[in-house]
Amino acid sequence: TEPVISVRDLRVWYGSERGPVRAVDGVTFDLRPGETLGLVGESGCGKSTLGRGVLGLLPRGAKLAGEVNYEGRNLVTASPKAIQRLRGPDLGLIFQEPLTRLNPLLRISDQFEETLRTHEPGLSKQDIRHRSIEVLRAMGIPPTRYRAYPHEFSGGMRQRIMIALALVLRPSFVVADEPTTALDVLVEAQIIGILGDLRRNFDTSLLFITHNLGIVAEACDRVAVMYAGRIVEQGPVTEVFARPQHPYTRELLRSTISLSTTGLHYIPGAPPDLIEPPSGCRFHPRCPSAMRVCPEQFPEQVEVGPQRVECWLHGPDELVPEGGREPLV
Ligand code: SF4
Ligand code: MG
Repeated sequence: TEPVISVRDLRVWYGSERGPVRAVDGVTFDLRPGETLGLVGESGCGKSTLGRGVLGLLPRGAKLAGEVNYEGRNLVTASPKAIQRLRGPDLGLIFQEPLTRLNPLLRISDQFEETLRTHEPGLSKQDIRHRSIEVLRAMGIPPTRYRAYPHEFSGGMRQRIMIALALVLRPSFVVADEPTTALDVLVEAQIIGILGDLRRNFDTSLLFITHNLGIVAEACDRVAVMYAGRIVEQGPVTEVFARPQHPYTRELLRSTISLSTTGLHYIPGAPPDLIEPPSGCRFHPRCPSAMRVCPEQFPEQVEVGPQRVECWLHGPDELVPEGGREPLV
């Protein structure tokens, strides 16, 4: 099947006093209908910027280059108006911080009605009610509260209502950025449940940004591991977790496993600098397998089984200079 979203060499950068911050620096991936891609990596590696960049939701001053192909057009070069039209019915989002607020003066029922009427004018009053209550129920809001006002709910419930409001339009592509950190465990389960329903019923594709590898194992089909603005490894979750091919993926998995057993295993060294990233492979200052070639040359992306990996351990051999495989000291 054709991908829903196909991202090619996406770059996002913005200015700072020390120079341009290259938060996303040449990212390529596809997302197929109904597929969930987990995006993982330490804080500050560019995950959130990538999620926003894909939807054209960057702060003012940020620059974007490359391709985000959706239904035959490149969203990177599309007009803000065209993207605005797609947002909601086609492109959905769930962020740590909601981008819009509930209108305090309107009943929840009115806000759902307004949203659905704007994007699906043909719906009957009964359909609207049915659709809204269904998605609210999935988020743990009982139908009896449908006509309540926002102030009658707790903060956590309002957040769930916001999510329901984004999902009632049944978008074909959703970016969820760490819904797990801001919300409690129950909400997390609800979100995963409701997104599972959307996938089954409407083939919704999801980019799931998190640092919780347990959730990725449970809820995602594929995983992309990000480091210093690059995706250094991607592939089916089961394969990547069973046989990680990039040293950074191995360290990341180790740090998660030790969290639940013997306390934290920190990945040694400083997290990546996105203004002046290390030369060659950006992970080389922290990599336990670093070789002479690593700081000298940027690694090629190669296929290793079902994975795509950016690391000199996997070649290609003809590009590694004489002595390049000696350990880096
Ligand atoms: Fe480590 Fe070299 Fe692979 Fe980078 S390219 S991850 S430094 S072995
Ligand atoms: Mg983030």
